[in-house]
Amino acid sequence: MAVPTIELSDGRQIPQLGFGVFKISDDDAVDAVRTAFQVGYRHVDTAAVYGNEEGVGKAIAQSGIPREDLWITTKLGNDRHNDARVAVEESLQKLGLDYVDLYLIHWPLADSGPRNKAWADMQQAQQDGLVESIGVSNFTPDHVRELSDLSRARPVVNQVEVHPTFTNAQVCDFDSDLGIATEAWSPLGQGEDLQNDTIDQIAQRVGKTPAQVVLRWHIQEGRIVIPKSVTPARIKENFEIFDFELSDDELKAIDGLNQDNRLGPNPLEFGN
Ligand code: NAD
Repeated sequence: MAVPTIELSDGRQIPQLGFGVFKISDDDAVDAVRTAFQVGYRHVDTAAVYGNEEGVGKAIAQSGIPREDLWITTKLGNDRHNDARVAVEESLQKLGLDYVDLYLIHWPLADSGPRNKAWADMQQAQQDGLVESIGVSNFTPDHVRELSDLSRARPVVNQVEVHPTFTNAQVCDFDSDLGIATEAWSPLGQGEDLQNDTIDQIAQRVGKTPAQVVLRWHIQEGRIVIPKSVTPARIKENFEIFDFELSDDELKAIDGLNQDNRLGPNPLEFGN
């Protein structure tokens, strides 16, 4: 099953489905990412703060998969906005890589000064070949507008919380108006959104599981998704979403489940 790609505004193609590794220990990440590669994932989403870049790096090294066939994303730690260049180099060392495909500012935090310094340092790291694409995470429209150099260097991705009970439509619409791809974190609502009658009925109709229906909804609405699991059967289940299609009515029914049910921190409050 081939994973479709999305063309980013810098012309690069990102696999629309990736494997998330939040809350997986460094040791467990080796097995989890190995399993994901065996299933067929080629895109992994980690972060400095997850503390598992070394484990992800080991799985990459052991896989024997050509580097150019992989898409590796990592993110800048919140305590490193003033120090992004060194932080990029540290992540590369832990991952055992010469470059990452995508580097994100993990959280905007309150202070735009360090945030803009990080953005400038990331542009330099990109010019120096340490990161291929640069983007942001948990940015509201105002945070994006506050980025210096926005007209010259626009984030290619905004990775934000999106799942059926938190559709985050304002941010997704803003991103799409600016040509920024939205990447959905907690795409399954951390498992909580899967116990839902509407999703259950659709799953029964199309002969798929609730998780597959929710991931397919993201894919058809054009978002990048990075579901996480350490369970091999679920890692495989979450990959098998390219052999069926939801109707427009089914997509709308899932859109209608929104309850502004944010599970993670609010970017306007986090780390301030
Ligand atoms: P998720 O929505 O992917 O949910 C993961 C949980 O759902 C699992 O722990 C498991 O309990 C359950 N699950 C997974 N597959 C299932 C299946 N097939 N059937 C039933 N239950 C299943 O939530 P997440 O891990 O919070 O988010 C995914 C990824 O997003 C993370 O690993 C990380 O890479 C990224 N993320 C980024 C940020 C950010 O600030 N940028 C924040 C949170 C997560």
